[in-house]
Amino acid sequence: MHELALCQGLMAEIERVARQQQASAVQRVRVAVGALSGVEPQLLERAFHVARAGTVAGGAWLQLDVLPARVACDDCGVQAEVPANRLLCPACGTWRVRVVGGEELLLTQVELTRDAAAAQPT
Ligand SMILES: [Zn+2]
Repeated sequence: MHELALCQGLMAEIERVARQQQASAVQRVRVAVGALSGVEPQLLERAFHVARAGTVAGGAWLQLDVLPARVACDDCGVQAEVPANRLLCPACGTWRVRVVGGEELLLTQVELTRDAAAAQPT
């Protein structure tokens, strides 16, 4: 299950952000998953619940945004969203297209809680 390895990578990034911001907890994590990334959103969510245990994100809520596949046509120059299982130019029908979106797995947002006592030294 490569989703778990991906989640551990995300978790390392989340922990680094939390440390930088001196956060006491992570409330919410937002991740963008491309339709062509090969990542199964349900599996990613399950893996996240495993990977977050014992971390600063132990109570964090995961929000997944699925990004559509996008292609750029080499023949007519059109750029468009297409179904992940039909990578053709929707304008002229050629298969000579380049994938320009939908392969990404990105951490887009981390919502943190700061410890009020730590943020305001007396
Ligand atoms: Zn075209």
